[in-house]
Amino acid sequence: MGLGDQLMATGMARGAWAQRRRKVAFGDGRRIRWDQNSDLIFRDNPNLARPGEERRPDLEWIGYFKGQRIYNTNDAARRRWVWNLDFRAEPGEVFLSAGEIRAGRRFGRRFVVIEPYVPSWKSVAPNKDWGAQRYQAVVDRLAADGLTVLQFLYDKGGPALRGAHGVRTAGFRDALAILGQAALFIGPEGGLHHGAAAMGTKGVVLFGGFIPPSVTGYAAHTNLTGGAEACGSYTPCAHCRVALDAISVEEVYAAARRQLGMAV
Ligand SMILES: [Zn+2]
Repeated sequence: MGLGDQLMATGMARGAWAQRRRKVAFGDGRRIRWDQNSDLIFRDNPNLARPGEERRPDLEWIGYFKGQRIYNTNDAARRRWVWNLDFRAEPGEVFLSAGEIRAGRRFGRRFVVIEPYVPSWKSVAPNKDWGAQRYQAVVDRLAADGLTVLQFLYDKGGPALRGAHGVRTAGFRDALAILGQAALFIGPEGGLHHGAAAMGTKGVVLFGGFIPPSVTGYAAHTNLTGGAEACGSYTPCAHCRVALDAISVEEVYAAARRQLGMAV
């Protein structure tokens, strides 16, 4: 599962230990099924049972793992996800170490993290990509307001925005630690928007027409769809293009100012 999926899992497990003295086992009822991304997000989480703990007496099983995500099912014939509209993402939790938290403070506070990049190796990428030029226009406006803007940079590429401080993190947990200090996140529906929610950071999230905010969005964020009904198509989709194009720079900028408590 992707990092966003793991973060949503921690939202499902929230409070299990503190409130019920139970551990959530993500798996098929027999085997706890973590994958290569699980430990990164689940580390030190008191609500979760780890692989090998299947015989604990205090387990609550949830059938959520790679290939079975609860919030969607694959309509392979039409190459789209069918969304489970009864599902609601709850903000996740990440248990950072004291050292990770300290490192996350190295840029101070009161900055905006902007994420223009959608993983290009995913076939859905064009349906989530608002476009670097528009993100650049938002950076220009925020910078003109005197705000500091940070952008994570990746080896795999993605546009570097002018006027944003490019940051090469030590990994996703480091990115979350920095995000936890940010005043605001702006970017597409994806791993970092789930991360912002988990860290209690405000957000302006560009959904477009792929996935409904009612399923993977968070109430504390401003979730922009361009007025579209979500289609779920994971191949390039004209409807999703129209939806993204319907989200204006001014709309994102105004939402950012509103989230920051600034006059609009
Ligand atoms: Zn579409």
